[in-house]
Formats: sequence, structure tokens, C-alpha cells
Amino acid sequence: MKEITILGSTGSIGVNTLDVVSRHRDKFNVKALTANTNLDVFLDQCVQHKPEYAVMADEECASKLEEKLKKEAPDISVLAGADSLLQVAELEAVDYVMAAIVGAAGLLPTLGAAKAGKRVLLANKEALVMSGKLFMDTVLQNNAELIPIDSEHNAIFQCTSAANTSSISNIMLTASGGPFLDTPMNELSSKTPEQACKHPKWDMGRKISVDSATMMNKGLEVIEASWLFNIKSETIKVVIHPQSIIHSLVEYKDGSVLAQLGNPDMRIPIAYGLAWPERIETCAQRLDLFDIAHLDFKEAEADRFPCLQLAREAIKEGGTSCAILNAANEVAVNEFLNKRIKFTDIATIIESVMSDITQNTANTLEIILRDDGLARNRALEIIRNMTL
Ligand code: NAD
Ligand code: MG
Repeated sequence: MKEITILGSTGSIGVNTLDVVSRHRDKFNVKALTANTNLDVFLDQCVQHKPEYAVMADEECASKLEEKLKKEAPDISVLAGADSLLQVAELEAVDYVMAAIVGAAGLLPTLGAAKAGKRVLLANKEALVMSGKLFMDTVLQNNAELIPIDSEHNAIFQCTSAANTSSISNIMLTASGGPFLDTPMNELSSKTPEQACKHPKWDMGRKISVDSATMMNKGLEVIEASWLFNIKSETIKVVIHPQSIIHSLVEYKDGSVLAQLGNPDMRIPIAYGLAWPERIETCAQRLDLFDIAHLDFKEAEADRFPCLQLAREAIKEGGTSCAILNAANEVAVNEFLNKRIKFTDIATIIESVMSDITQNTANTLEIILRDDGLARNRALEIIRNMTL
């Protein structure tokens, strides 16, 4: 029986994780669940899964939850605030931590889980993008197990598990291309948050959906892959594959290419991460190749997806550049979702922040968080000047 903490249980990854876990009650027990403000969904999850700890980052929501749980599930300990996220990620009795908080808010508890030597199921790519080497060193030094949940990286993990990574000649990260793949370029600036969040293949949280529309998601994933698989970013290619059936490919020096395929359903990589090195059942729909009939591939247009290039520049610059890129992106996406800037402003803002904030060696958490904060302030300043 493995005890599990799910950070961000009310999100798209969190809900899918609970779906897999609840089909395998003989193997997994939910020790702790965490959420930010989504009280109704979180209350239902607590009543259904009876974790020992229920954490809400928002303190007001936590006290409302405590009040409601008094009647329905009085044994659950309700905790509040960011420190409690870290506490349940590090619990001695916990074996696995699903890191599924979105954005920088997930960095400290995810890093905490690695420090505590847990199996870290990493969905929260921003945590790794921000802290890069520090994160990988923490995993190594504390004998943590790091299993990527992002579908592309999970695919690569599956395609490389039997191999010596020095025999890899390149990695091909597939991308759906998002909702604006074929939108006329002159219409991009008027696209709304609702249109950006309507992903053709995946049902995900709003931030990652916008990232998919700008393809910053793929940029973050190039950074993520370079750290996870210790491979130079130049050898990571991005391939647009609108059907989202092949989740990524690995080419070896002998010319063999291995790929992992499946219907686009996050329960597949989540189940793999939970059961690794075994496999367990999921309810994901089986792949029907006759139904799919053909698969398409094309290159990403640089002028349509400038964020992809910005991410590649951040990796080249190194240090805290990726944390700066990530922070500027988080602010810009949030402002776009709140209808304060245009879709096409996102890339412009990130580019300005990257040229305004000088990167530093990213060898401590303090430096990373300081540059993250500087980049956020600068992004907000640029946006204020734009909208005056
Ligand atoms: P989501 O928006 O649906 O859920 C986010 C979760 O994080 C929620 O439970 C929310 O309560 C919690 N949260 C948000 N802000 C918080 C804060 N300040 N403090 C504490 N908790 C907070 O997001 P998602 O789509 O589930 O994505 C989660 C992560 O997984 C992201 O990093 C994303 O890039 C990654 N990911 C998601 C998918 C997907 O299919 N959804 C695929 C690959 C990777
Ligand atoms: Mg992905």
C-alpha cells in the first residue's frame, strides 16, 4: 500500500489522479489532498477520499472547509496556508507526491517532496523550469524518484527506460499546435481567453491551455526535457502533430526511433507514474488505428509561436533566465485571462522582461525567488504602462 499526497487535487491533473487512485484502492491510500480556493470540489473530494490531511492554501477557504467537515468527516485535519502544503509534501508516512499545483506556487512543496526523498510525480513543470539544476541535484542527493507526468516527458521516460541516455541522438517533442494553429495571423490579437482555453485535444486548466495556444507550453517542455533527460536543448526538436496520438519520440544513434502512443488521456501517464515499473488498468479509451487512419506532422511557424523561441533563448542564457521567462509568462497569461491585455501581448511582454532583468547564477532558492519576483514586478509595470 502506497500513501500518497496530491498537491492540487482540484485541478485537471488532480482530478484525473484521484480517478486512477480510486480504481486501485488496494494499492494506494490518499494521505493528504491540497487545493487553493475551490471549496465545493475540495469538500466533495475530502468526503469521498477521507484523507488524513486536507490543506487549503487560502486561509479563509480553509476555515470554511473545517466548519463543513465537522459534520461530514470530523477525523480529517484541516490545515491552512502555503507552509502546510510543504508539510504534507514532506510527511514521513507519505511515499508518493503528485505535484499538480499550477505555476510557481508549486515550487516549494515540490522541492520539499524531493528533499524528503519521495517518489515525485511531476506535472508542475514550472517548478522544474524555475529551479532546474537545483531541483535535479535535490532529487539526486536525497534519493528521490522523479517520474514525469507531462504526457510528452512520460512518453520519453517510457521510450528511454531500457537505454543508456548517451545513445540518444535526439528527442522529438510532439505538440498539438493548440487552438490557433490555422488561425489567420491577423486575427490572433483579437482572440479571447475563452477561445484560447478551448483546446482541440486536451481538457486542462486555464493557464496551461493558454500556454498551449501560445506554445509557451512547448517552450517550457523543451526546458523540462533538457533537465529531466540531461540532454542539450539543441537536440530537442518540436514537431506539431495535431491528432495528439504520438506523445513524443526518441531517436537513437543507430537510427531507431521509439515512440509512445495512446489516446490523449492524462490518466495513462498518471497511472504509469503511480505503478512504475509495473502497469495498472485505467479506463482510458483504447487506441483504434483504423479509426485514426493517418497521423500528420508539421513544423512550428516561428512568427506564429514566438514564445517557443523565447524559451530556447532562456535555456541558452542559463542561470535564472528560465525562472524570469516563467515568471513573466505567468503574469502575462493571468492578465490575458483577466482581459487586461491582448493574446499577442503575451510574447511581447515576456520578451521585454527578459531583456530588462539580468539573469544570475541559479544556485540558491533565494536567488531564483528573487529574480522570479523582479520579473513579476517588471511584467506588471510594463502592463500598467501599456494600458494607461
Ligand atoms: P488546474 O488549474 O486545473 O489546477 C491547478 C491546481 O493547483 C488546483 O488544484 C489549484 O487549487 C491549485 N493551485 C493553484 N494556485 C495555487 C496556489 N497559489 N497555492 C496552492 N494551490 C494552488 O491546472 P492543471 O491543468 O491541473 O495543471 C497543473 C500542473 O500540471 C501545471 O503545472 C500544468 O502545466 C501541468 N500539466 C497539466 C496537464 C493537464 O492535462 N492538465 C498536462 C501536463 C502538465
Ligand atoms: Mg505536455
